[in-house]
Amino acid sequence: MTVICWFRRVLRLDDHPALVAAAQGGPVIPLVILDPLEALAHPASAQRQAMALPGLAAALQARGSRLVVRRGDPATVLAQVIRDSGAMAVHASEGMPFARDEGLHDAVRAAGAALHLHPLADLVPRGSVLTRTGTPFKVFTPFWRVLRQTAIAAPLPAPRLPAPDAWPDSDGLEWPEARAAMNRGWPVMARHVQAGEATAHDRLEAFLDRITAGYAERRDLPAEGDATSSLSDALAVGEISARRIWHRTLHAQDQGRGGTEDFLRELAWRDFARDLFHASPDMDRTCWRREWDGFSWQGDNADAEAWRQGRTGIALVDAGMREMFATGRMHNRVRMIAASFLVKHLMIDWRVGLDWFARCLTDWDAASNAMNWQWVAGCGPDASPFFRVFNPEGQAGRFDARRLYRDHWLRGEGARDFAKAVPRSWGFDPDHRPAPLVDLDAGRQRALAAYRGFARKDAAAL
Ligand SMILES: Cc1cc2nc3c(=O)[nH]c(=O)nc-3n(C[C@H](O)[C@H](O)[C@H](O)COP(=O)(O)OP(=O)(O)OC[C@H]3O[C@@H](n4cnc5c(N)ncnc54)[C@H](O)[C@@H]3O)c2cc1C
Repeated sequence: MTVICWFRRVLRLDDHPALVAAAQGGPVIPLVILDPLEALAHPASAQRQAMALPGLAAALQARGSRLVVRRGDPATVLAQVIRDSGAMAVHASEGMPFARDEGLHDAVRAAGAALHLHPLADLVPRGSVLTRTGTPFKVFTPFWRVLRQTAIAAPLPAPRLPAPDAWPDSDGLEWPEARAAMNRGWPVMARHVQAGEATAHDRLEAFLDRITAGYAERRDLPAEGDATSSLSDALAVGEISARRIWHRTLHAQDQGRGGTEDFLRELAWRDFARDLFHASPDMDRTCWRREWDGFSWQGDNADAEAWRQGRTGIALVDAGMREMFATGRMHNRVRMIAASFLVKHLMIDWRVGLDWFARCLTDWDAASNAMNWQWVAGCGPDASPFFRVFNPEGQAGRFDARRLYRDHWLRGEGARDFAKAVPRSWGFDPDHRPAPLVDLDAGRQRALAAYRGFARKDAAAL
């Protein structure tokens, strides 16, 4: 009985529960679906996925299998491939948000097959790390303590893949909608991406060879590119599993490598975000603390556009926004500062920023993006309080003291990359130094005054 394995943002053979289950069912058709709507909403992530496909296709071919790629809406494509192949079952990983797969089940059933959704190979199954009273954690540290005591399941080896007698047609590895949406940015970003399952494993090994006890401190320094693993994009497109990283890191820890405990803790943030998203599937649109929906956020406006285009006049913020547009990544500390500047100094709704990150990040992950934006905005469960306003100049002095990061993106090679990537309609002039959009102290006072007014109203309502 032929079965389909839909490689749904899990672009690997190692530790792939849906693939293992499919291989037990019979001859397997490995399928990737390139959805034009996804390319429009998440162009950088789509490019990142497209760049993973040649490696995946080659790995499948080396095992006597083949990658079938189809473009279109997932429900329609699944129904079509079922009809083309006579497959009786589709195995796939859960999507995120976790609750929105109803239409898929209906489409697959109507085409005469059954859809089996398998858990992602995260560190722990969703909703399994609970407080003593059986409720999900709202704060990271206690979540981490329990997760650290939990036995993390061993990664699953890649299965043997029996081939079907006949292969359905494939549309090829190109994703034209992603290329069109990325436009001039595609070739620039392509130079910054290291794609493929084997590459992800190599990068993990290289990182574990160089990690030291200084990891926790160095990970805050944006000019120190090798201080962190840079594996978030490989994780986001599923080239490597969190469980594989966990077990390899434990092994390195047993061999006495410093910094590994801090690294495991960072990795656990990803699972924490997923648990929160699992419990609150609208976390990417609604303030986790509902009362914050009544805050006087401003909507999208000219200041937001200046922020997106990296011309706020605040050097560290602009450097970060340029790094993200050109490479698809932004250093974690700089993400916090750029996001805080948008929601506090400019008082713009966090969802405006979340949407731009969702377009530009190669490591875009619905849960991590939503949790971190709500953390910065002060409306999330374990959030940084709104009255704690980052001063981007102070942060720059502390974490980019020698200006290496800012100079790279505002004057150096990074600036040249950015110039090549931006749409011509932005009219980008590399020599123009924009004046600050707001005086930092005045912006801070304005944010605090708005917060005090909001907190008073809120207290009065109680
Ligand atoms: C506003 C904002 C939005 C963000 N959006 C995303 C996103 O869409 N996708 C994403 O993967 N990360 C997001 N992050 C988290 C973080 O910036 C990146 O995971 C990190 O920069 C990845 O670099 P690395 O792989 O070198 O990290 P390392 O230091 O090597 O950490 C290892 C892994 O731990 C996980 N991790 C580390 N920090 C966090 C965190 N704060 N939240 C969740 N997971 C974490 C990542 O999977 C990362 O790859 C966001 C942070 C902020 C402040």
